[in-house]
Amino acid sequence: MYLQIKDVSKTFGTFTALSGVDLSIEKNEFVSLLGPSGSGKSTLLRLIAGLEQPTTGQVLIDGQDVTALPPYQRGIAMVFQDFLLFPHMTVRENLLFPLRMLRMNRDDAEERIDWCCRILSLTALKDRFPNQLSGGQQQRVALGRGLVCRPKVLLLDEPLANLDRELRRDMEIEIRSYQIQLGIPFVYVTHNQEEALSMSDKIAVVNKGGIEDFAEKSAVYDRPKTRFIAQFVGRSN
Ligand code: ADP
Ligand code: MG
Repeated sequence: MYLQIKDVSKTFGTFTALSGVDLSIEKNEFVSLLGPSGSGKSTLLRLIAGLEQPTTGQVLIDGQDVTALPPYQRGIAMVFQDFLLFPHMTVRENLLFPLRMLRMNRDDAEERIDWCCRILSLTALKDRFPNQLSGGQQQRVALGRGLVCRPKVLLLDEPLANLDRELRRDMEIEIRSYQIQLGIPFVYVTHNQEEALSMSDKIAVVNKGGIEDFAEKSAVYDRPKTRFIAQFVGRSN
């Protein structure tokens, strides 16, 4: 297993946000964490990224226990709903920024940016500023800022929530195609069951800080294990 979450729990004061979470994800898998607002999805993603420390449990990437490592040493990138591009920087400069943080030399960085722009169809837009891009193009730059570091795992926290419905459909297909091309696991948080169904290999249904089921998406949809899952996945958003 490429990414493993072992018996992870997280408490904030007296509140238990996550408890007894186990999850094993293979290298070529697209996994959605699907659940209602407040169920603990973002907390779980932040624990994987290293932005939060688990109260108990471990996170392993490619066999290595990374629980004690800071985010930048984990080889993980994260894309957020509010993608917050630097408005005063071009696409190229936005992509360069994370590479500067890694102290990559100029030539390697330019090569990496070119690679990233090719994959994300941003080559013709490299010198534009964010306000000269459509919503979908901006979202691709946000993805690029994650991918440009060539992460071992990409985490996405409701990245399409601010886009309109039609664009969202296109981006779902695009994001899935990037995952297939790159061959790394994508862990995709959403509260939208249609999104989870169209994009994922497997779905982890998150409810009240626990994983209610983790299985191939067809199993989750066709044979819901619990009443909660039946109700939640049966609901259209
Ligand atoms: P989701 O992403 O599924 O909507 P979150 O992981 O953001 O859920 O939050 C899960 C629960 O943990 C919520 O009740 C939230 O209020 C709580 N929570 C998250 N982060 C903190 C924090 N830093 N301090 C206290 N409570 C938190
Ligand atoms: Mg969230």
